[in-house]
Amino acid sequence: MKTVSLEQELNPWEAQAARFDFAAQKLNLDEGLWKILRYPQREIIVHIPVAMDNGTLEVFTGFRVQHSIARGPAKGGVRYSPDVTLDEVRALASWMTWKCAVVNIPFGGAKGGIIVDPKKLSLSELEKMTRRYTAELIEFLGPEKDVPAPDMGTNEQTMAWMMDTYSMHMRQTVTAVVTGKPINIGGSRGRREATGRGVMINCDEALRKFEMSRESTRVIIQGFGNVGSNAAKLMADGGYKIVGIAEYDGGLFNKNGINIDNLLEHRDRNKTIVGFPGADAADPRELLLADCEILIPAATENVITSQNAAGIKARIICEGANGPTTAAADEILADKKVFIIPDILANAGGVTASYFEWVQDRQGYFWKESAVNEQLEFILREAFEDVVHFSDTHGVNNRIAAYMLAISRVAHTIKLRGIYA
Ligand code: GLU
Repeated sequence: MKTVSLEQELNPWEAQAARFDFAAQKLNLDEGLWKILRYPQREIIVHIPVAMDNGTLEVFTGFRVQHSIARGPAKGGVRYSPDVTLDEVRALASWMTWKCAVVNIPFGGAKGGIIVDPKKLSLSELEKMTRRYTAELIEFLGPEKDVPAPDMGTNEQTMAWMMDTYSMHMRQTVTAVVTGKPINIGGSRGRREATGRGVMINCDEALRKFEMSRESTRVIIQGFGNVGSNAAKLMADGGYKIVGIAEYDGGLFNKNGINIDNLLEHRDRNKTIVGFPGADAADPRELLLADCEILIPAATENVITSQNAAGIKARIICEGANGPTTAAADEILADKKVFIIPDILANAGGVTASYFEWVQDRQGYFWKESAVNEQLEFILREAFEDVVHFSDTHGVNNRIAAYMLAISRVAHTIKLRGIYA
């Protein structure tokens, strides 16, 4: 791949496009299909006025990008973050198309975002902003059109407000318009833990490949939000040794393994992992470079870059976050023979359980949690095998294999459907 500036390296859209171009070229993708799939199908920008608690009016900028609806309704989360940009949402929307295709579920890809720090808004301001954002997008959303879900800065409550707003406009309750809802309003059992569970299933598959055991595997996790904390809990319960946790405000290290149940209690009580007595304080940036078998970046984009990739000691990287590794870092890690489970496979457990939620809502019939977990495991194991097989047969790394598999599935669908003139 060509050399790029640090600014380009850190632009998620450039990162996505670099991998897409490389995979498309390896696939010998038809030039027309290349042009169709390289750019999103639709990009919507909305300006959202909100009457704030102090009586002033504030206007927030929001996005919804629908990258593809070739394989089914657009699907993907909504992110509330002060740094969100249109380029980032574009990249995330494309990644959703590839993610849904890698696990072979009948969705296209989308992503939304609002430029806001949700921690600075009251609950009522957040509710008003969410409802107005949903209302601004009303004609573009729907169970057969575009189905949002939680992402960074949003949660089950956000989805409940979106579902209610959409339903009020439709004059009927439409639970299947969003996923990741609370269980008693059409959410699915197992959805909350699904991304973390998917991370563990992928790690299990990698251990099987390398004939390693859970008990002798030291894990470091960056991020202790929905993905990181659920992965930590499930993996610790399953026998993995979680030796390090890195958060934005501090890190923890214990070579004998951190007691995750106690850490969760500490975090819930203190709203931070910092000060936990069961581990030593550690620099969160240094933790990425510490000794371990598996590193799980489960926080945000661009944490493994050309600046720190050479120092990584993990043998396996399982990407719980979207886009944590830059394209330049990929090359360094490939030289070091690090086995990467790429984001569009590693964190696909969330959208796979979202698919189950959408199916249950449309059927009006809700599954037991064991059924959700069993189906999740079945789909993710198959996807892991497909990606590794693609990588072996085409002589490319796992990330490019995952892109090639996904692009070929979406391209095949477009070819079958044809272009409507
Ligand atoms: N935001 C999650 C992701 O990036 C979940 C998306 C969904 O469930 O639609 O995969």
